[in-house]
Amino acid sequence: MNNALYWFTDDLRLQDNLTLNSTLYACKNILFIYVFDQALFEPTNYSHVHLGPKRQQFIKDSLIDLAEQLQQLGYELQVFKGNSREVLNQVISQADIDIVGCHAGAGYYEQVLLRDIKSDNGDVRFIHQHNNLLFGPQQVNDQDLRGSFSKFRKKADKLVISESSEDVFADTLPLPLNLKAFNSKNYQLESTNSTDLSHFLGGERAAQNHLEEYFLKPAASIYKQTRNALDGKYNSTKFSPYLSVGNLSPRQIINHLTQYEKENGANESTYWIRFELMWRDFFHHKAMLKGAMLFKFTGSQGGRPLTSYYPQRFKSWCCGTTQYPLVNACMKELNETGFMSNRGRQIVASCLVNELQVDWRYGAAYFQQQLIDYDVASNWGNWQYIAGVGDDPRGGRHFNIEKQTQMYDQDGSFQKKWLCGSKPSFESVDMVDWPVMRAENGR
Ligand SMILES: Cc1cc2nc3c(=O)[nH]c(=O)nc-3n(C[C@H](O)[C@H](O)[C@H](O)COP(=O)(O)OP(=O)(O)OC[C@H]3O[C@@H](n4cnc5c(N)ncnc54)[C@H](O)[C@@H]3O)c2cc1C
Repeated sequence: MNNALYWFTDDLRLQDNLTLNSTLYACKNILFIYVFDQALFEPTNYSHVHLGPKRQQFIKDSLIDLAEQLQQLGYELQVFKGNSREVLNQVISQADIDIVGCHAGAGYYEQVLLRDIKSDNGDVRFIHQHNNLLFGPQQVNDQDLRGSFSKFRKKADKLVISESSEDVFADTLPLPLNLKAFNSKNYQLESTNSTDLSHFLGGERAAQNHLEEYFLKPAASIYKQTRNALDGKYNSTKFSPYLSVGNLSPRQIINHLTQYEKENGANESTYWIRFELMWRDFFHHKAMLKGAMLFKFTGSQGGRPLTSYYPQRFKSWCCGTTQYPLVNACMKELNETGFMSNRGRQIVASCLVNELQVDWRYGAAYFQQQLIDYDVASNWGNWQYIAGVGDDPRGGRHFNIEKQTQMYDQDGSFQKKWLCGSKPSFESVDMVDWPVMRAENGR
């Protein structure tokens, strides 16, 4: 038969998509689907949902773009909302599918889902690999990952980054397969009308525009000096939202970077963009190795952090009403835009764990809900680092908020932008979340 199903997940693009290419070559007929898993809209153990409205819209925009591109090639993208395993099993059976292609992400639960679907469909051939890395799993072994990032980086510096794959849609294409009388609920895609996300409009074509635009500017040559800024469109690359849903591959970034270096010269800053993408690869490879340990309170260290769950403190952190104005400004930015700079993330994460002494997993879960660029490996991996339960030889990070304010917001403009005059609140509860009794009028 050679009927293939391509199941898009975090690889919402047509270009440089290795698994998609392999699937197209292997079949005669093809069907394209995406599933919004019902579980993503339900509360997690940490009382927030997996997928907040901002990232949901970013994904929808990406799907609209993908559907339009597929339509130009004569295909339809079917989008469903439901239980992924049930939807996949129904489609496989109703469309007589014998090949399934999909990106195999680094997340533990995503891997379990794929394993379950494979075991439900023993006679179907599965084509899957991680589509979104610089280095394939065959280039990195467990030894390279046992230990800190420095060890991994020394090896990664010598590894060859494969070229982006060629444009397979230029070749003879399989015929479109249609799904008739399908029971699962189709999902209606609506594009964003608001302008507040114009900065981060999802989609492969928006990602390519941003990539081109970034490297037309001299920003990459001064990246190392600017990357820690709390604000500013070109102070860091802003590739993360596109990478997180796979609108962009890290190889495509490296190709553009290499070209930029040929034309403008390589320096420490241009190297540093590679360096940061290596961090991303490091966390992804680590996540595949660690499995469910990525979500464990004690991480891979074994020792229990001296933190707990204080609902009031956690709530004030989420809402940006703590006694730390810089933290509040960063959290307000996150809540309004779905984005926060790397420095901001480090400061607020350190504050939650060290000043407010809240269990780091609550912070990671809140980021999961709010971030447009949420990425399971980078998010939980970075939180483990800050909380001191990752593989960091320095054992956790405590940022001095006052010093950080002096360094990164000396003139207060970032705080002014996000706080709009609101005053920081002072502790209203004690260490165990009892209300603090304040002495009034000097009594
Ligand atoms: C607590 C915490 C949670 C985080 N959660 C996420 C997340 O869910 N998704 C996410 O993509 N990044 C996460 N990061 C990493 C980092 O903050 C973002 O990748 C970065 O701020 C995105 O902005 P940018 O694209 O302009 O980055 P740039 O500074 O321009 O970096 C270029 C690219 O390198 C990668 N990168 C940079 N720093 C890191 C890092 N520390 N770890 C992994 N990759 C990195 C990203 O893909 C980024 O797009 C987190 C960091 C912290 C401290």
